[in-house]
Formats: sequence, C-alpha cells, structure tokens
Amino acid sequence: MIIILSPTASKSDLDELLTNLKDRGYGVHLSQGVEKTIVGVIGAHDEVKPMMAEQLSSLAYVEGVVPILKPFKVVSREFHPDKTIVRVRGVDIGGQKLVVMAGPCSIESEEQTIQVAQAVQAVGATILRGGAFKPSTSPYSFHGLGEDALKMMAAAREVTGMPFITEVMDTRDVELVSKYADILQIGTRNMANYSLLQEVGNVKKPVMLKRGMASTIEEWLQAAEYIANRGNYDIILCERGIRTFETFTRNTFDVSAIPVVTGLSHLPIIADPSHGTGRYQLVSPVSKAAIAAGADGLMIEVHPNPAKALKDGPQSLTPENFSKMMSELGNVARAVGKYV
Ligand code: PEP
Ligand code: MN
Repeated sequence: MIIILSPTASKSDLDELLTNLKDRGYGVHLSQGVEKTIVGVIGAHDEVKPMMAEQLSSLAYVEGVVPILKPFKVVSREFHPDKTIVRVRGVDIGGQKLVVMAGPCSIESEEQTIQVAQAVQAVGATILRGGAFKPSTSPYSFHGLGEDALKMMAAAREVTGMPFITEVMDTRDVELVSKYADILQIGTRNMANYSLLQEVGNVKKPVMLKRGMASTIEEWLQAAEYIANRGNYDIILCERGIRTFETFTRNTFDVSAIPVVTGLSHLPIIADPSHGTGRYQLVSPVSKAAIAAGADGLMIEVHPNPAKALKDGPQSLTPENFSKMMSELGNVARAVGKYV
C-alpha cells in the first residue's frame, strides 16, 4: 500500500510515520516529489491492510492510504506519478530529448570501438553501447573479450566523453563491470535471474533491464521491482522483442508494450529494434514506430563493417545507414512533443 502525506506534513511527521512502519516490521520506500510525499509500504499482508489503512488514515498528517493490488509497487505510477529521469554523466534518460545508445553488438578491438563511438556521436548518439560479456544461445559462438573490452570502452569514453552501457551476465562480474561501465545492462536471458537483479540493485549505477523474450509486461515490471527493492531506483526498461511463432524476424518487437509500460510505470523505456527485428532493413522503420509510441530513446547496433562482425552483423547498421536514420527521426519525435 502507499501512504500519501498531506501538504502540511512536517519532517518530524514523516519521521514518526517511518518509525511507526519500521516498528511494525515493514520495508519503506520514499518518493518525495515537488507536490507530494508518498511512502510505499512493503510487506504488509492483505488481511492486515484494511485495519492499517484505517489506523493510518486517522493521522492528521496523512492525506490518504491507497492499497496497491498490482504485484509491483515502487516502480508503479501510483507510487511516483512523475516520470523518472535517469541521469548519467550529463545525459538525461526519460526527458523530452530522445536518448540514442549506439555501438557494436560486441567490442572487437579498441580501434573499432573508438571508430564507431566517434561515428555515432557525430550524428547525435549520446551513449555508447557494446558487449564485453556476451550471452549466446550457442555455446560455440563468440562470448566477448571480457575486461579487455571494458578497457576499450573506457578508452572510447576518454576520447569522446560518451558514457557507456554494457551487459553484466553474472553476479560474480557485477563489481568488475561496475568499476568501468556507466550503465549496467541486464539482458533478455537474465531478466528473471533474481540473484543478479538483487546484486545490481545494491550498486550505485543505473541499470537497464531488458524484457525477457518470453516474459509478460507484469513479470518484467516485477523484475524491475527486485532491483528497486534493494535501493537502486535508477532503472531503465528496454523492449527488445519477444518470441512468437513468426520466423521472418528474429523476435517480434512489441510496440504496444511501450504505451502499456509508460502507463503502468514511471521508469523510462528504451526500444531496441536491432534485437527486436534481427534485420538491419527494419531498424529504421521500427525505431520510428517506437518513438511514435512514446519510447524515451533507442538502442541501436552499429558496426563499421557488418559483413565482418563477430556477432549480429545482419541486424547492424553501417555508420552511413545510422546517420540516415538519425536524420529522419526528428519529424517523428516532434509529432509526439520530443526532439532528437
Ligand atoms: C545485446 O544487447 O547485446 C543483447 C545480447 O541483447 P538481448 O539481451 O536483448 O538479446
Ligand atoms: Mn547483439
């Protein structure tokens, strides 16, 4: 349940309430907006909720008590009516300006990384993406250069000033990846790896949580709640396509998930049409659809020579194709009150 404080509530009223809840053995999450202070209560059983609601409503400094029936609370709009903006090295994710994260599927060399970073930055990308630890369905394909790749991305950040995002696959690597990366990515195969979610929830770095390829929106938001419950509220969601019976595309990009999520949650949402379609020809049209549907930004795979990419060449844009797409996004963005 969530407790909305009255506008006249003082700091000591809030402290009293928090002590009251903690004494009852509940977890609390605090959302202090410009207009309202909201306290989320975690752990209350359904049978005690009506009684608690009655008791707490009688306090002078409480404006209202709302039971939340959804299986997620902290990431819900009820808890935090304003949209969350995740800030990373001067880049705002979730505001009017669309954020484009771009780079190779996998980091292959320092030269490749810097070359792509400069090319995508020149046409408007503000975050570099790249895989150092690569999940793969096949045990025989490329699994990434590990820490060497993290160093290459850090070198590209040094040259361009761009923050970078990279995937962390294992609880044992969270400390290492956090040492280098600006945003930690949880991939589709790990969306329901609850110990990994809790581990990145303990870190003071933003986390981008991809939707599990066979997960419902509700399961995805509950996975985000695992991270938030550990105290890390800097969460970005990413729709990257789900498994359907369709085989022409690698996944089916679920464009409807974007307005569903923005209605249910205050977290920013990024669209990944590269993995969502698996075909470079579809990346630009699906990017436009995602922006029109309300996405806060894009994650796009770009490779200087897709024919030679160690991974995901068929869905990678050349720097030229990326530049063309970027020049076309502005019109769509403007139509929905945003800009590139
Ligand atoms: C990726 O972004 O490189 C990746 C592996 O994505 P996903 O987890 O969506 O397959
Ligand atoms: Mn990829």
